[in-house]
Amino acid sequence: MQIKEQIRSLEDELRQIRRDFHQNPELGCEEYRTAEKIYEYLKTSEMAVKRITETGIVGLIEGQAKGRTLMLRADMDALPVEEMTALPYKSRNPGKMHACGHDGHCAMLLVAGKILSKMRDRIQGNIKLVFQPNEENMFAKHLIDKGVLDTPKVDAAVGIHLMTALQTGQIGIQAGPVMAGMHVFKLTVCGRGGHTGFPQDSIDPILTAAAIIQAVQSIQTREINVLKPTLIVFGRISAGTMSNIIPEKVVLEGTIRYLYDLDDADTANPCERFEQIVNSICRAHRASYEIEYAYHHPAVINDSGMVKIVSDEAQKLVKEKEHIIPYVTMIGEDFCEYAKKVPSAFYFLGAGNKKKQTDYPHHHPRFDFDEDALPIGVEMHIRTALSYLSGQH
Ligand SMILES: [Zn+2]
Ligand SMILES: [Zn+2]
Repeated sequence: MQIKEQIRSLEDELRQIRRDFHQNPELGCEEYRTAEKIYEYLKTSEMAVKRITETGIVGLIEGQAKGRTLMLRADMDALPVEEMTALPYKSRNPGKMHACGHDGHCAMLLVAGKILSKMRDRIQGNIKLVFQPNEENMFAKHLIDKGVLDTPKVDAAVGIHLMTALQTGQIGIQAGPVMAGMHVFKLTVCGRGGHTGFPQDSIDPILTAAAIIQAVQSIQTREINVLKPTLIVFGRISAGTMSNIIPEKVVLEGTIRYLYDLDDADTANPCERFEQIVNSICRAHRASYEIEYAYHHPAVINDSGMVKIVSDEAQKLVKEKEHIIPYVTMIGEDFCEYAKKVPSAFYFLGAGNKKKQTDYPHHHPRFDFDEDALPIGVEMHIRTALSYLSGQH
């Protein structure tokens, strides 16, 4: 049977798996039910399956001949969002929702794995199917520490993200940086509190914070080439207890995002410049400060060779060639950790359809994606794996 026919025969199953995950969302590292379902499905698809963490699952398809190992990755976690859709398979877990499409990622990879496990005679090498917990909290690094890239050693990695900002069937792919690196900061500006009627006896941290917020915006446009996208955005400011009291401190939280490698010698490091500006302004205002980074991760940087393999397969699959487009986003993604270790391609599969109301942004309480994208994702996984492991590359 041709690949397309095989996928067609499993299309109901594909949607049903996705809907089951959608109805039973679980937060990062709590994906117990999801992991159980994945484990059972892979077992019945006749492949070696193991748990790499409490909820992380790895399936291994060994080809008829020895060769390289390709990792295909799907993330499993839902978000702490109260679902506001009217879908018949709406979340049954209050305050939890698959609002990023990870339910679809798991369904696509499961069905692709089932089909690929019956094609061992066409595979030289191995396919590692990685179902990763807790993407939203950057868990990939933990999986690498647990050996997800070892035994057998992974030679290349590929991942798909459904994307409602793209039309159903569009494929967004390009080499180089495709998703932003990010530093999540918490900056505390410390002054000296007092009465707003005697500001001369205080050091006002609010005035200092205001100067900092304004000044750091110049980094993006005056210090870094604007063709190297950089964003410094404050998401939370907290200070004070009453209108006539100058507070002791202001806490500012936000993100610094960059679509390039921070080690890139041609580009100023926005995090270093951020701290230098904070330091100078605080000194000018007689205030002090502390900066903590909750976490940081690099940009997802795609390998040109892997992108070519995926793009060539996309060309064969997508009828309208203009549907294959370059696409980058300033959102972060922990796939960056794999991409740092092995040649990788991370790309976007359009699932937005205004008529079906699947054009809400990711993480929105009304988020949904067009399920017509699912069989395309399955076919892309299968084609990419067969192409990479055919021995021709
Ligand atoms: Zn997300
Ligand atoms: Zn996501």
